[in-house]
Amino acid sequence: MAARESRAMKQRLESLEAAGVTHLPRARATPHAPAGGNPPAPTPAAAAPGRVGVAASDRAAALRVIAAEVAGCTTCGELAAARTNTVFGVGPPDARICFFGEAPGADEDASGEPFVGRAGQLLTKIIEACRLRREDVYILNVLKCRPPGNRPPQPEEVAHCRGFFERQFSVIAPAYICCLGTSAAQALLQTTEPIGRLRKRWFTYGSAKVICTYHPSYLLRNPSAKRDVWDDMKILMADMGVEI
Ligand code: URA
Repeated sequence: MAARESRAMKQRLESLEAAGVTHLPRARATPHAPAGGNPPAPTPAAAAPGRVGVAASDRAAALRVIAAEVAGCTTCGELAAARTNTVFGVGPPDARICFFGEAPGADEDASGEPFVGRAGQLLTKIIEACRLRREDVYILNVLKCRPPGNRPPQPEEVAHCRGFFERQFSVIAPAYICCLGTSAAQALLQTTEPIGRLRKRWFTYGSAKVICTYHPSYLLRNPSAKRDVWDDMKILMADMGVEI
């Protein structure tokens, strides 16, 4: 194996380990390349095979309109007064999958981008362990402003932001939504069931299939739960047709 490939393989194994993967299935046979030809190019896992409809540029324009509304929103007075930036969301406007978190923390408030702090770094590792690339998925939160001291969102704050995240999902129209933690799962599914009972089940939201798992911040406090998240990701990847 060439040095570059071997380094890439080492990085991937480290990323899987950091995401809580303790063992990998045996390699599966892949179709042989025709004599003298190239092997078939893999379909990018986060690309939406055969998705048609609204052009990505139109979706991007629609998201810019919502982002501008978010930037000017002062409905939650306490949050608006304390924020440095609103945190709208990031990713391709026609992403096949959205990762849905709770609310910005200090790093996200400072940068305006979701999941860039420690929890965000772990989320990136989880995404990569799923053989996806962070830049191919859309990442957003329930709340667009940081709650003071990172407290959980209040029900009225969720209600104020509902119009924003619902419109984001409606523009992006993802095939899959992965809810990260209680706040995201309960807000999207409009339930009070705890995250432990929402895991390992499929839900639907519009035309998206929804799966729920623990929040990366919870994993930072409880690393043993990484195994559960990996189980959830295996369910997700199997449905998405992603081979691990
Ligand atoms: N936690 C979240 O839920 N969202 C972020 O953007 C960062 C941390």
